[in-house]
Amino acid sequence: MLRQISLQDSVVYGPVKSRRLGSSLGINPLPLGYKLCSSNCVYCQYGWTPAAPPGLGRAGEHGAEPIKRAPELLAAIGESFEEFVRLGTAVDCVTLAGNGEPTLHPDLEELVIGLKALRDRCFPHAKVGILSDGTQAHRPKVFRALALLDARYMKLDGGDEETWRLIDKPLGEADWLRLLATLKRLPGIVLQSMFVQGSYDNTREDHVSRWIEVVSDIKPLSVQVYTIDRAPADADIVKVPLARLEQIAASLTSRTGILAEVYD
Ligand code: SF4
Repeated sequence: MLRQISLQDSVVYGPVKSRRLGSSLGINPLPLGYKLCSSNCVYCQYGWTPAAPPGLGRAGEHGAEPIKRAPELLAAIGESFEEFVRLGTAVDCVTLAGNGEPTLHPDLEELVIGLKALRDRCFPHAKVGILSDGTQAHRPKVFRALALLDARYMKLDGGDEETWRLIDKPLGEADWLRLLATLKRLPGIVLQSMFVQGSYDNTREDHVSRWIEVVSDIKPLSVQVYTIDRAPADADIVKVPLARLEQIAASLTSRTGILAEVYD
């Protein structure tokens, strides 16, 4: 039985050990105890995205913690990193993610610059990366911050706008063609594509063909093909069998030459 996970209750969390990232320290720049996201993915391990409370960013309103600005975050991150160094914790990467979409943070560029300096001091061999839904990446400040990182793991779950809107349910003024154009412009990205079955299904052959065309046009360094391993927001979503994930990855590589790795 898959279990939903709780929101992160600290700025630095982990290390989380995964086949995808190794030993990764997560950085949550978003409010503690509140999911703040520009998508509302049917498979989200944190449940559905609530409407942003009007007071978000101001202390105490609606029970939501305010967003911490970059100097306060970097001070907390520095203290935590020093503690991991004292404990001799192995860290392969530091990943901006947390309780939603990290590119929604207003000081992302300052945060990335400070985070890389802390990495240089504490874990010089670790990469600094981000997990992102890409919907904010066209904004110049966000694009610059993303380009400064060592690794960009960008979500692409649909091969067409309808599937993207059904599965990721992007919020606000999200634009499919703009997303694709931005993913093409970003340097050296890894795409993460979640496949699901059940109440939504993006594993049908016609959809996979469209997805391969779009991925081929974006030309990522590689693609991570995966399925749920936590309880999804929509309880009728189910895990895709490993054999189907492997077929999808093999089709992508044979038709485009792009490396695809499967994680189930
Ligand atoms: S982008 Fe990530 S945090 Fe946001 S709803 Fe989707 S899976 Fe959840």
